[in-house]
Amino acid sequence: MVGVRAVVVERFGEAAEVREVGDPGAPPGGVVVRVAATGLCRSDWHGWMGHDDGITLPHVPGHELAGEIVAVDAAVRDWRVGARVTVPFVCACGRCAACARGDQQVCERQQQPGFTHWGSFAEYVALHRADTNLVAVPDDMSYVTAASLGCRFATAYRAVVAQGGVRPGEWVAVHGCGGVGLSAVMVAVAGGARVVAVDTAPGALELARRFGAAVCVDPAAVGGDTAGAVRAATGGGAHLSLDALGSAVTCAASVAGLRARGRHVQVGLLPAGGVAVPMDRVVALELELLGSHGMAAHAYPELMRQVAAGALRPDLLVGAVIGLDAAPAALAALSGGSPAGITVIEPGRAA
Ligand SMILES: [Zn+2]
Ligand SMILES: [Zn+2]
Repeated sequence: MVGVRAVVVERFGEAAEVREVGDPGAPPGGVVVRVAATGLCRSDWHGWMGHDDGITLPHVPGHELAGEIVAVDAAVRDWRVGARVTVPFVCACGRCAACARGDQQVCERQQQPGFTHWGSFAEYVALHRADTNLVAVPDDMSYVTAASLGCRFATAYRAVVAQGGVRPGEWVAVHGCGGVGLSAVMVAVAGGARVVAVDTAPGALELARRFGAAVCVDPAAVGGDTAGAVRAATGGGAHLSLDALGSAVTCAASVAGLRARGRHVQVGLLPAGGVAVPMDRVVALELELLGSHGMAAHAYPELMRQVAAGALRPDLLVGAVIGLDAAPAALAALSGGSPAGITVIEPGRAA
C-alpha cells in the first residue's frame, strides 16, 4: 500500500488538492479501512474553513465513511481483514467514565476521523479502538448508503428517538432540511409523528414532503415568523422540535415553536459562546432543552433493523456520487449553501 491518494488541505479556506500521502498503518487497537464511500458534510466544510480548533495542517477531512478492513492491529479482538464496516463520527476511547456508562457519543477522550486525525477523503483511513467503535455493514447494504449512517442519519435517529423521545401522533418540527434534517424527518415519520419541515430552499422542502412531512414552511413565505407558523400548523406548538441547521435564528425559532412541556433538541453545531434562547418561554412553558451528539456504536443494531425492514431508507437521502478528484470543488461549493440530499465520494471511482 504505497501512495495513498487523498484530499489534502494545506491552508484553511483555500482549494484542497488531491495527491499521494503515506500509508496510514493500523494504530494500537485499531484498523485500516479501504474507503469505499465517504459522505461530504457541513462539518467537513467547517473544518476546511478553520472553524475547528483541533485541526492541524496539512489535513485530510472526512468522517462519514464505510469500507473494508485491510489491516488489523494485534490488539484488536473482534475484527478481521475483509469485514465490511462503518463507524460513528465520534470514535470513543472505551475506557473513560462516559464510555463506562455506555455514553460513547460523549466520550471524554474521543477521536474523530477527519478532525483529530486524518480522515476518509482518501483511499485508506486509520480508525482507533476498533472493538469499541466499528459497526458491521450488512452485505445487502451498499457502502454509499452505509456512509450516510455514521454522522447524519445516526445523529438524527438518536436526536429524534433517544433524546427527543418521539411518540406516535406527536407534532415534530424540523428546522433545517439538509442531510441531518431530512434524516430526522424520515425517522420522525417512521416513529408515527406528524412533521413540520422548515427550510428556505424549495428543493429541500420538496424532499421533506417526499419523505412524509405533513407541513412545509418556508420562513420567507411567512414573513420570517417561523415559530408562529409552526404553532399555527400544530394547534399550539410542536411537542418536539429540532434545530438541525445550527444557527441563532433556527435555534430560537425551534424553542419558540414549542407547546407547553415541549422538547427542543439541538443537533446543528453552534458557534462557541452560545446564542440567545427565549428562556422566558422555557420557564413559563416548562420546556426541555437537550443536545444530541452522534450515536454510540452499540446503539446501531436497532437502527440497522429498521433499515433492513425498509422502515427507514437512508439510501433515498443520497444525492450526487462523485470521485475523489471532484471532492475539493464540492467541499468549496458548500460556502454557497448545501446541495439537495447527501453528496457521497467514492475514492476508488475513476475520475
Ligand atoms: Zn458529518
Ligand atoms: Zn471514552
